[in-house]
Amino acid sequence: MLNLRVFMIKITFPDGALREYPVGATAMEIAKSISEGLAKKVIAAKINGEVRDASRPIAADATLQLLTWIDAEGKSTFWHSSAHLMAEAVEWLFPNAKFWVGPAVENGFYYDIDLGDRQISEEDLRKLEVKMAELAKQNNAYIRKEIPKDEAVAYFENKGDEYKLDLLQGLKDGEISFYSQGGFTDLCRGPHIPSTGLIKAVKLTNIAGAYWKGDEQNKQLTRLYGVSFPSQKELDEYTAMMEESKKRDHRKLGKELGIFCFDDDVGPGLPLWMPNGTIIIEELEKLAKETEQKAGYQRVVTPHIAKEQMYLTSGHLPYYKDSMFPPMEMDGVKYYLKSMNCPHHHKIFAAESRSYKDLPLRLAEYGTCYRYEQSGELFGLMRVRCLHMNDAHIYCIKEQFGAEFRAVNDMYLKYFKIFGIDKYVMRLSLHDPAKLGQKYIDEPELWKETEKMVRDLLIESNIPYVEVPDEAAFYGPKIDVQIWSTIGREFTLATNQVDFAQGLRFKLEFTNRDNHPETPLIIHRAPLGTHERFIGFLLEHYAGRFPLWLAPLQVKILPISDRFLDYAQSLLQSLKNADIRTAIDDRSEKINKKIRDTELARVPYMLIVGEKEMNDKKISVRRQGKGDQGIRSIDEFIQEVSEEIKERRGESPLPIQGN
Ligand SMILES: [Zn+2]
Ligand SMILES: [Zn+2]
Repeated sequence: MLNLRVFMIKITFPDGALREYPVGATAMEIAKSISEGLAKKVIAAKINGEVRDASRPIAADATLQLLTWIDAEGKSTFWHSSAHLMAEAVEWLFPNAKFWVGPAVENGFYYDIDLGDRQISEEDLRKLEVKMAELAKQNNAYIRKEIPKDEAVAYFENKGDEYKLDLLQGLKDGEISFYSQGGFTDLCRGPHIPSTGLIKAVKLTNIAGAYWKGDEQNKQLTRLYGVSFPSQKELDEYTAMMEESKKRDHRKLGKELGIFCFDDDVGPGLPLWMPNGTIIIEELEKLAKETEQKAGYQRVVTPHIAKEQMYLTSGHLPYYKDSMFPPMEMDGVKYYLKSMNCPHHHKIFAAESRSYKDLPLRLAEYGTCYRYEQSGELFGLMRVRCLHMNDAHIYCIKEQFGAEFRAVNDMYLKYFKIFGIDKYVMRLSLHDPAKLGQKYIDEPELWKETEKMVRDLLIESNIPYVEVPDEAAFYGPKIDVQIWSTIGREFTLATNQVDFAQGLRFKLEFTNRDNHPETPLIIHRAPLGTHERFIGFLLEHYAGRFPLWLAPLQVKILPISDRFLDYAQSLLQSLKNADIRTAIDDRSEKINKKIRDTELARVPYMLIVGEKEMNDKKISVRRQGKGDQGIRSIDEFIQEVSEEIKERRGESPLPIQGN
């Protein structure tokens, strides 16, 4: 009992908390010491930045992050472990199966399997799902065992699995581990979930062929794809979401509704915004302008190009060069298309001498940026080469930082409310103290201080957030905002960053209270992200049924026959005078066809005019997707609709009225 402390290790948690545990404690034991509820959710653990089994003993002082389903690495461990479970089921049903590799992928997992001459059918997949559910219920632990190479080779020789023997060739003694769960043993580095019981729902989604090692000279293996979840509810939601998201694909809707298009002659990743898309863009910018003006921002406009020197100063060159378009040379000087607006805004800050009285200075611009995305990465509006960003930079004194950061968060929440975004999470990315001076600017105190400020603000504002170690920007902690569309698909909307490096690089200064020069802190923020990604998100979110204020065409007048065209024209003029986007369907079609087509075009309001309406100087109102809304005078309608637009309501509560 000379010194008990030598038998204890110090564990540092992501929030900076430090606790002591006996040497050899496992992440699972540590989780249990915090709460049983937490322990039940633990999938794996990140120890000193490395993902490991939660059951492995920790030998020395370490940083520890407990991984659950909500962490990306937790999910991939869960899915990879499910691939083992699927392999176990395959071995039950096809005892001669041989296994190559079974990784987690973006949405689930697969395993490449040699089934001999056996063709696998959809029916087999259902049988495998049943077997997997049965094996999962047994709640077998994933047990790791380190194995000498000769023993491992003997095991797979005995099993007659030449694929695993091939994998073993590249491995040395000391690098080989087996994992067993239930009756199945696999050669694997790990990590895995604690036991199969965590896998509550499985769906095998696809069968494909895959050449061994990707070489078409080799034998073709069967690749089985699947996805799994910690609850049946999550699987049901996933299935519904996949079906619905096909219908709501922003590329399909964007074309149907005349929002955007691409043209080969313009170039890949360079969307052309059509008139309907441009209306949405202008409405979003109007919202941003109003909101920012109230929040004390000033708008600026900057060129789309700048000299090489500016990007050397900012550090975009050479670090970000791969994401920039190649330079163009003019008068012996290289110019680059801007990939970010920040440096231009910093130059506006530097253009005048600033005192502490001028701060905070908030400069906003819907800036156009160009980024060189690989052509394989381009995807509809989600990954493009030309983007319009809801950008702003806030230059402030350290003492002002808290209030400014809070105001930015409030702005995000305000927008979420307008767009009916109920589910969101902020991912707070932190630095790794071991990488100061390399991956992160060497300002240990500023890092600690700003990270604490940001974390405290998130807690205080009750905003759901997760912490991600070692993913901060070079110049400061950042927050990635993830939002979910109405059908539950996740989008990364925007980042919100604290920056204490760019001010120094650009030698930005203000005169402080003591009459000394001081460098401002900078907040980068873009709550509405880019038009491209945000409108892509909105198309899916609303399934193309935009709320009235955003709808490219708000009202369509449908005359029952040509006799009512003059009356329709007079209504059109009144609506246009009231700034309501309106058109007339003047085709000689039956009224039912006109209604159907207008419904399909997702125009929020239809005004039907016939004999009775014309004689009474009234209109019959229909709401898209909701049918008849009763009779009104045009003035009543204009008043109601103008309010709905002004308030940017998501849904119309327009009551049904009799006449
Ligand atoms: Zn494995
Ligand atoms: Zn910026």
